[in-house]
Amino acid sequence: MFRKIKGTQDFLDLTLFNFIIDQAKKHLEQYNFVEIATPIIEPLDLYKRSTGEETEVVTKQMFKITGKGDEVICLRPEATPSVIRAFIENKIQQTPWKVFTWGPMFRYERPQKGRYRQFHQLNIEVVGASSVFQDAHFIKMLDRFFGEKLGLTDYALLINFLGCFEDRKTYHFLLRQFLNDVEQDVCAECSIRKEKNILRIFDCKNPQCQTIYKDAPQITNNLCKDCNAEWETLQEQLSLLSVTFAVQPTLVRGLDYYSKTVFEFVSDSLGAQTAFCGGGRYNQLVCQLGGKEDQPSVGAAIGIERVLLLLELIKERILLPQKKALHLILPIEQKQKSLALLVADNLQNSGLSVDIFLEGDSIKSMMRKANKMGAKYVLILGPQEQEEKKVSVKEMMTGKSETILQIDLADYLKS
Ligand code: AMP
Repeated sequence: MFRKIKGTQDFLDLTLFNFIIDQAKKHLEQYNFVEIATPIIEPLDLYKRSTGEETEVVTKQMFKITGKGDEVICLRPEATPSVIRAFIENKIQQTPWKVFTWGPMFRYERPQKGRYRQFHQLNIEVVGASSVFQDAHFIKMLDRFFGEKLGLTDYALLINFLGCFEDRKTYHFLLRQFLNDVEQDVCAECSIRKEKNILRIFDCKNPQCQTIYKDAPQITNNLCKDCNAEWETLQEQLSLLSVTFAVQPTLVRGLDYYSKTVFEFVSDSLGAQTAFCGGGRYNQLVCQLGGKEDQPSVGAAIGIERVLLLLELIKERILLPQKKALHLILPIEQKQKSLALLVADNLQNSGLSVDIFLEGDSIKSMMRKANKMGAKYVLILGPQEQEEKKVSVKEMMTGKSETILQIDLADYLKS
């Protein structure tokens, strides 16, 4: 017997999954976003250049594929670099380019609750929009999606501001000085991070390191005048839009391209992996990936599996779209099977949802199965019905039976 690859899942009931996607599509249309799709395979170098050569995603978590040529390709670990590649490659002129895309992502992680090797993200990007007001509008859009469209209540929004390139240079210097003083007390991994990618120290899971970093200098206390003004505007605008948030000075996000606004939506109900959506501003990515002009952008990725875990907890409160009523046709004997196909075809042609029992079970067993399947009507075709060109219609809920002419059946069921 074959088993699924570690860290992957079979989805046998997509009701909630599709609920998320459908709600997102409706919601994003209201905000003038357009759906796009990019390939699942991309050149590995795309992520080295954008996500970052020293990030965990690129150094440890890539699913590499060696093809026939020299090019090393990979299964995409995230969507933002692909969206920006598509923006450049397709020479998109009209900005802001407001797009969303969803689908599977791949990261070679240690699987646990809410963390998989194949998982799904819904990515939303505004490419070519520099205003901090755009960030506030974007975050409000997400907050409204989670709160109003999905009905989530048990979550929080964390925000931080990483400043401009110059701010981060100053901050790296201050942080390095701080780390020099505490280096003997932090873990070996953080000593490496200090040299290679210093902001990543804040992602360290070691409790001792986390305690030490509480006293680290904060980037928001070391912003230039313009960035400081933007940071204040962001907080003012979010308050004005009634978005509840908490400032988290250690929130730096795991990917390299972020500048200025960063945020995460988190929930304690998720266990160890608390973030179900993360994003922020990335102002240099278009040039970094070979575009001619910088296109300041803001985006977010929603982790669908983690949102699913949250929805499972409030399932009873969710108003899912009503399933179509199921009609089950029961041919009693071999001779009525052909007629059953014709009756089903006619009803399906009228837009009704229909299935047929063709395995020759006893009527008792077919009725039992129909009940289990939640059929609304059972349509019985026996020798007598066939002879009289009729169908016996039994309404499962009430047990009421009627005999209807085959020719009138579609209209009867539809009314
Ligand atoms: P990131 O692209 O790392 O910023 O992640 C954005 C969101 O994707 C996170 O907040 C999670 O909800 C989700 N996510 C990231 N990695 C995984 C994973 N391995 N398994 C499931 N969800 C993930």
